[in-house]
Amino acid sequence: MSIIYNPQQYKISDRPMENFIDSDELWSILEEAKNPTKERVREVITRALNKNRLSLQETAILINADDPELVAEIKQAAKDLKERVYGKRIVLFAPLYIGNLCINNCAYCGFRAANTKQERTTLGHDDIVDQVKVLEDDGHKRLILVYGEHPKYDAHFIADSVRSVYGVKHNNGEIRRVNINAAPLDVEGYKIVKEAGIGTYQIFQETYHRDTYLKVHLSGKKRDYDWRIAGLDRAQEGGIDDVGIGALLGLYDWRFEVLGLLRHVNHLEAVYNVGPHTISFPRIKSASEFTVDKAYDVSDEDFTRLVAILRLAVPYTGLILTAREPAHIRDEVLQYGVSQIDGGTNIELKGYSRQKEKQDLDHEQFMINDNRSLNEIMEELVDTGYIPSFCTACYRLKRTGEHFMEFSVPGFIKRFCQPNAMLTLAEYLEDYAPAETKEKGYKLIAENLQTYDDADFKDKLVDRLERIKKGERDLYF
Ligand code: SAM
Ligand code: SF4
Repeated sequence: MSIIYNPQQYKISDRPMENFIDSDELWSILEEAKNPTKERVREVITRALNKNRLSLQETAILINADDPELVAEIKQAAKDLKERVYGKRIVLFAPLYIGNLCINNCAYCGFRAANTKQERTTLGHDDIVDQVKVLEDDGHKRLILVYGEHPKYDAHFIADSVRSVYGVKHNNGEIRRVNINAAPLDVEGYKIVKEAGIGTYQIFQETYHRDTYLKVHLSGKKRDYDWRIAGLDRAQEGGIDDVGIGALLGLYDWRFEVLGLLRHVNHLEAVYNVGPHTISFPRIKSASEFTVDKAYDVSDEDFTRLVAILRLAVPYTGLILTAREPAHIRDEVLQYGVSQIDGGTNIELKGYSRQKEKQDLDHEQFMINDNRSLNEIMEELVDTGYIPSFCTACYRLKRTGEHFMEFSVPGFIKRFCQPNAMLTLAEYLEDYAPAETKEKGYKLIAENLQTYDDADFKDKLVDRLERIKKGERDLYF
């Protein structure tokens, strides 16, 4: 069955949201694409390499290409496309958990209301200042604030915590972009958090499959699938044009979820003229009083493959991978298209100032698998030729939403993002890096400078790099 897609149907301010996800439709697209010929798969890969946005049907062809030879070609194509669109830059951020009170019972989450073992903590202004000082001393410039869902964490509370973060200027440090991962708000609520100067508002649908959604969201406001799926539409209506979507892999068939994510992208593009800024696809991990059900377990092979498919399907959307994944998986999927990772992550409430060696799941949401410090990650990225970036220029120059999409054309990322990555890397090298990282980092910058043919532009870039060495900060294109 196929539904007729009329974007105007979905404007939500004047009528209730009609859901744009039709499970039967998504499944029938997947069924029709079964057993694709090699020629058909290669045709789709070529279209993706020419930077066409793939349709649901084309993406389903890639999802159904199980032949190892074709999987290898998909991964190679994603690698090529990633290099051409994103260059060698990788954006770094850190999560900061603000509060783990929660009224919902999401079966998979350590913060769920019914979990009496979880110690509940909410960070006040002074606690936030303490955590942010540690993060700034590490070298971070971009944070994502994370909240449980609770009446206490309303839009004003979120906005206040964002302002607390921006207010911390420690030594040469400052946080220049604060993203949010919190429960969906109403339109008025989004207006309030926008006022505080947030970057991306992220909401994961968790699973696009309605029956599964009801099975795992046992009680609380989050049980309402439609309220959640319309959450980012309301964000747009409230003036937030920079949004992030996501699916929690392991709840249902990953093939369906990938198509669900793509459907969500199509919906946002069709209705608001701008797709999501980022897509997240965390794999479910153990949590306090919760062990992962193996039924929909996503193997490493399938996981790395689906990252490559997403890269090919949506060439201009940022792909986020977090410390839920171990270092070797992170390193592999960086090649296929992940553009943002966290570093030096600690998800314990007030955890950055405590720096405990071992995770305690009764104080945290779930198990993480990458405990490397930010500098270890920086050094590894530099060693493998990636340029770690703390750039926040687009957001601050108002290059977001539709405006950002206009710039996300071939060449933009290399002309703006790559030099800005070098400038923020230089800041890091000056202010936070040990001598060895500093030496390697400047060597990488020098190598990358060689790739600029435009002498005028190169001069401007070199001038900014010299000014950073002399103590100026926050220079960007
Ligand atoms: N409470 C808000 C919500 O549910 O939308 C904010 C986000 S929640 C604190 C952050 C995200 O963590 C969830 O959207 C979910 O995808 C993810 N998460 C929850 N439990 C997890 C687990 N056991 N393993 C991996 N990710 C998990
Ligand atoms: Fe609460 Fe979010 Fe955890 Fe669900 S995923 S229990 S809403 S913190």
